[in-house]
Amino acid sequence: MQRQATGITAAPAAGQRPRTPGPDQRAILDPATGETIDVVAEQDAGDVDAAVHFATAAFPEWSVTTPRRRSEMLHELADRITANADRLAAAESRNVGKPLDMARDEVAQAIDALRFFAGAARCVAGEPTGEYVEGYTSSLRREPIGVVGSITPWNYPFLMAVWKLAPALAAGNTCVIKPAEETPLTTLMLAEIAATTFPVGTINVVTGAGATVGAALAMNPRVAMISLTGSYATGQAISHAAAETGKRVHLELGGNAPVLVFDDADLSAAVQTIRTAGYWNAGQECAAACRVIATDGIYDELLRELTPVVESMRIGGPTDAADMGPLISEKQRSRVLGFIDRARSAGARVLCGGRPRNPGYFVEPTIIVDVAQDSEIVQSEVFGPVVTVQRAADENEAMRLANGVAQGLSASVWTRDLQRATRCSRALKFGTVWINDHLVLASEMPWSGFGHSGHGHDQSVMAIEDYTQVKHVMVRA
Ligand code: NAD
Repeated sequence: MQRQATGITAAPAAGQRPRTPGPDQRAILDPATGETIDVVAEQDAGDVDAAVHFATAAFPEWSVTTPRRRSEMLHELADRITANADRLAAAESRNVGKPLDMARDEVAQAIDALRFFAGAARCVAGEPTGEYVEGYTSSLRREPIGVVGSITPWNYPFLMAVWKLAPALAAGNTCVIKPAEETPLTTLMLAEIAATTFPVGTINVVTGAGATVGAALAMNPRVAMISLTGSYATGQAISHAAAETGKRVHLELGGNAPVLVFDDADLSAAVQTIRTAGYWNAGQECAAACRVIATDGIYDELLRELTPVVESMRIGGPTDAADMGPLISEKQRSRVLGFIDRARSAGARVLCGGRPRNPGYFVEPTIIVDVAQDSEIVQSEVFGPVVTVQRAADENEAMRLANGVAQGLSASVWTRDLQRATRCSRALKFGTVWINDHLVLASEMPWSGFGHSGHGHDQSVMAIEDYTQVKHVMVRA
């Protein structure tokens, strides 16, 4: 374990790391080529304990730091990230394999989230005071919870780190964050950038595997709350572990977004959006527009327009002028190709893509039709560049297909009929519903799921509230 004076538990700075991993290290790969780009410490439960110790020691002072001061530090971090935006975007692009423009977009979104939480930090308040029992005055306080353990996925490592850290810090908690084992680089950079602004121990990073480092964080008795963005299976594992020590749990899990395209939709807008939102980040996107459901009158035309648009997408690494990059790992590519193969065997038709491309971990952008509602490809979150298209006879059937999955993160409805849009948005069992668009986020609005997509909010004032506990103070007059 390397420990810096700032209380950040992490590997040596980027550029100083050896290219061949030692026994307690992990090679970080470029998904576009499979080559090693860096080496990071593979930490263990002892390192988690040390990081939690730092965070515990920092909590008393940080929890009483004024909202204004916390806000100033979050703004300062946003300034420093802005100054380092090119470096961060380049590292994110290389580590995740995403086109550089997408990584730049991710860094810009993270800066916006930081500035939002910097402002919101000063607006966190309990309910107004009142007299509810004769002779007594009641008031509510919102207080920080303690040490928060944050666990992030590999699809947006930098943005997810900011979504976790900013509201938790704004509310007065200290943090130990564990990035995904494949993509720790920009989280380590973030901690290094934050180290000169935030007090020692407020932000700590531990690197390593989910089953060891992540599990140790979820089980640590001094961690008061665990916040995960990841898969449903990991959400289950963390909930079990957290129950042992009575932790609060905050889960942002997988999606499986339906895209309802009705006969009266603006077809070319829907097609362009499915091309972008279905294959953004190579489909490794919890809100990916992956389940298109088109009504009878538009289904054939939609496929006629969509298929060539998807076939013409350029795939390539960060340095190519590509529309879509590789998947994160060979493991993820095999998983995605396995879904496609099994869908074919079950009678589905692959209209385009469905094949790997080497070197690196690429899968061609894929459209699959003739899929049964209860089939694996419809019911599972594929998390790759795969879009299914289903035919629905009418609005009722479209709604039944859309709601007929366990996940409930996001959905979109494409129609010019305001009444239909209103009806559908009410009936859809998803945390976000877009009308005539898909994959547009706002820092001011909550991001959270229904059903197997988890509970708790990222983004918005609600995220800060999730990282607080409420105290009722009653004063006898
Ligand atoms: P994952 O669940 O495999 O891993 C997520 C994180 O959990 C990683 O840091 C991993 O190391 C850790 N982890 C794994 N097993 C663990 C355990 N037993 N205990 C503690 N930590 C453990 O997910 P992934 O494959 O990295 O990411 C993809 C998933 O994340 C998808 O399901 C995707 O939809 C979801 N996701 C959701 C959102 C959202 O906002 N709802 C956003 C992005 C990604």
